[in-house]
Amino acid sequence: GAGSPRAASGAAVAGLRRRLESELEDIRGAGTWKSERIIASRQGPHLRLTSGGAGILNFCANNYLGLSSHPEVIRAAVEALEKFGAGLSSVRFICGTQSIHKDLEEKIARFHQREDAILYASCFDANTGIFEALLTPEDAVLSDELNHASIIDGIRLCKANKYRYKHMDMQDLEAKLQDAQKHRLRLVATDGAFSMDGDIAPLREICQLAQKYDALVFIDECHATGFLGPNGRGTDELLGVMDKVTIINSTLGKALGGAAGGYTTGPKPLIEFLRQRSRPYLFSNSLPPAVVGCASKALDLLMDSNAIAQSMAAKTQRFRSKMTAAGFTISGKDHPICPVMLGDARLATVMAEDMLNRGIYVIGFSYPVVPKGKARIRVQISAVHSDEDIDRCVEAFTEVGRKHGALP
Ligand code: PLP
Repeated sequence: GAGSPRAASGAAVAGLRRRLESELEDIRGAGTWKSERIIASRQGPHLRLTSGGAGILNFCANNYLGLSSHPEVIRAAVEALEKFGAGLSSVRFICGTQSIHKDLEEKIARFHQREDAILYASCFDANTGIFEALLTPEDAVLSDELNHASIIDGIRLCKANKYRYKHMDMQDLEAKLQDAQKHRLRLVATDGAFSMDGDIAPLREICQLAQKYDALVFIDECHATGFLGPNGRGTDELLGVMDKVTIINSTLGKALGGAAGGYTTGPKPLIEFLRQRSRPYLFSNSLPPAVVGCASKALDLLMDSNAIAQSMAAKTQRFRSKMTAAGFTISGKDHPICPVMLGDARLATVMAEDMLNRGIYVIGFSYPVVPKGKARIRVQISAVHSDEDIDRCVEAFTEVGRKHGALP
């Protein structure tokens, strides 16, 4: 029949199968196997799972503003699909640029108050494209040790001199900047908000050091764009350094509608240079119109009003204060990523499972994703959670925490 797989044969394939099966067994044995729950509904605060769970309260998406299933965002996608088609079957510079791509780039730059912006298929691509295009063996990049995997991979691809400073440690950054004075250009690269701990980079101090040592500052704003700062512009707005951060990379796949896509925004010549030299931009298909439509509408909603971002901040505050009062330790500060610190890996796993038994979907994280002994359940708050949703989550945590000995 048309659908039956044809097993490849031969000694090389047999060897590969044996090796992979043994490595898969090791992953299971180490307790780090990641299984995927299958969702049968839209992304949102309430989910239906194919395994039968209905009315599951979802606390583990990056849907910070609840725009992933916003009716206006969906309508904008449908309209863009109808008018501009399913996709471009082309990279941007051959015949893949439509008016909506240029409009979205202009809107992103305006949102961040920067000169220009360039779209990518993802922020992972934006991060793997920028360092290699921009930095040469004459230059240096200084990177926080806990930066996202895509920044680490992007830096690996470039030939600059590499310095890794201790997480948010300004003394260490200063020492490394002194060491890096011998190079032509210094670029400090940091996540604006770190996704495992919900902590926020000390951008004021980083920008001061950058000024003192003649360096540029790059931030990855995936967990900040749309909701941090009084108008949701991000970490640079929150910390009052919008005019000091040179380059921002961020995603359209989290708060800004959640479809997909990423971008770099910053000085015009940098963006023009990336269009000429950045490999994930030059050698990958254009963003599909429906995806562009979603992000464009999400930005319109955020530029019209900061009410959604503020509602998320209030929900975050409610969760953090109620959980702290219940006796839990929540890492980070004022961020919708609320890591409930538990320490023990098995405790995090069984508590997350027991939360799902009570209809609350949260995920436990343990080594190697976070350091040994620092296992946690990461809760993510969204503007579309109701106060009752938040309270139900806190109540379930309290019950489950008592049952498993995480609370007295
Ligand atoms: N940077 C950070 C800090 C992230 O958390 C992520 C997503 O997990 C990315 C980059 C990649 O973004 P995208 O999903 O757009 O590739």
